[in-house]
Amino acid sequence: MKKIGVYVHIPFCMAKCYYCDFNSYAGKGDVGKDTYLTFLEKESIIYNIKYLKMEAISIYIGGGTPTCLTDKQLMKLFNILSSNLKFANDIEITIEGNPGTLDMKKLAISKGFGCNRLSLGVQSFSARDLQILGRIHTVQDVYNTFKMARGLGFNNINLDLMYGLPGQDIQGWKENLKKIVELQPEHISLYQLNIEKNTAFFKLYKRGLLEEFEQDVAFLMYDEAINYLSANGYRHYEISNFAKKGRESYHNKIYWRNEEYLGLGAGAASYLDSNRYTNMSSLDDYQCALDGGELPIKKTEVINKKLSMAETMFLGLRLLEGVKKSDFIKKHGISVEIQYKNAIGKLKEQGLLCETPTHISLSKKGLYVANVVFCEFL
Ligand code: SF4
Repeated sequence: MKKIGVYVHIPFCMAKCYYCDFNSYAGKGDVGKDTYLTFLEKESIIYNIKYLKMEAISIYIGGGTPTCLTDKQLMKLFNILSSNLKFANDIEITIEGNPGTLDMKKLAISKGFGCNRLSLGVQSFSARDLQILGRIHTVQDVYNTFKMARGLGFNNINLDLMYGLPGQDIQGWKENLKKIVELQPEHISLYQLNIEKNTAFFKLYKRGLLEEFEQDVAFLMYDEAINYLSANGYRHYEISNFAKKGRESYHNKIYWRNEEYLGLGAGAASYLDSNRYTNMSSLDDYQCALDGGELPIKKTEVINKKLSMAETMFLGLRLLEGVKKSDFIKKHGISVEIQYKNAIGKLKEQGLLCETPTHISLSKKGLYVANVVFCEFL
């Protein structure tokens, strides 16, 4: 039986944040969401038949904003998943939530289904920042939601925080770090704001009304986060992720270890049987394909041996522990030192990689230019 991580995409939000280029749609009514779930069920059934009930070792329900579904829709979603997947005994089930869309009932429904990890898009503890980003929630919503979740027994909570925001300075960032640590979540994910095409921010940028954030200051903010969070009991285990002991994201580690996963929903990607499949992102296309009994796959990329080895390197190097040499041999049948002799030698000389008898990992200097390092393995 295939053991996989499962990502489920819910492409709906209450409103579009000004910086967001994710595949999400604001303002869809309940009918649109009901219809989407019907098609998500069709897709799940096709995969269920194809793989004879795969065993899910993790499920990540993301978006979009999964918690903008109604109570009934959430229950329907959970029913689709439990009917078409076999859950491993120690499965990690994460649901993403926007603090502006969660209440006691939705949290209780999620907990009752078996969600044992909650990921909240906090982004900032400053009202000014939230307004600039176009977030629908307030700082108080964050505190209220966190308290409710704890009260219901969620003991594994991730909070997302963004830096490099317009007008944000180091002092403002330090305040955010202080406040997030005060809440004591088990996991913290950091994101640097980038101005992406097809966003409201990009339009402002094009008109000269928004400037790109100074990269030097962003580095200082990142550095501050590493030092502050590490000093406060959070292990820096991935380039942008920090966790208390034993609370690393099990689901994301599947990606970073280049293991198989299934993506369900519009725009979701899967990595199965040495192929990467990307679903159609438009709701109409996604639904139309499934209506005709087809999987809604827009693009299939065959991951040959060379590419698979490269992916093992640049995904694995995201983890601070790096790539385990014995895992590389087991997966690819060749030693990493032989396969990437030149690249490893060059990057070590530049002080960007470290090597121990068991692992290859990014150096502290390499962390800041990780993309440059990754390119050497392509
Ligand atoms: S809530 Fe998340 S997915 Fe939705 S618009 Fe904002 S950033 Fe994008």
